[in-house]
Amino acid sequence: MTSLPLCPNCKCEYSYEVRDNYVCPECSHEWSKFAAEISGDEDEFVIKDANGTALADGDTVVVIKDLKVKGSSLVVKVGTKVKNIRIQGGDHDIDCKIPGIGAMNLKSEFVRKVAE
Ligand SMILES: [Zn+2]
Repeated sequence: MTSLPLCPNCKCEYSYEVRDNYVCPECSHEWSKFAAEISGDEDEFVIKDANGTALADGDTVVVIKDLKVKGSSLVVKVGTKVKNIRIQGGDHDIDCKIPGIGAMNLKSEFVRKVAE
């Protein structure tokens, strides 16, 4: 069984993936994977960094903006590397520990994923 969707144009079942799109070999129709994901019933919680890269538990990220720590005079400086993040729900969707500061919640839009 394939999990690839039918072509929405001609219902051909031999669609294949090309980068972020599906392509139909029968009628050459091309459509976005993301549209299929959004309309699908998959309910997985995905958060994305400033570049749109999906983040997962255990990832390492870099802060891309000076961030004031609420209720203190501390600032998380741009370029701070944060290891082993945890994804959570809510407005500040990353739970992490920042060296020299401690446990903190960050917004995914202010970080960028890095390869370790
Ligand atoms: Zn087709």
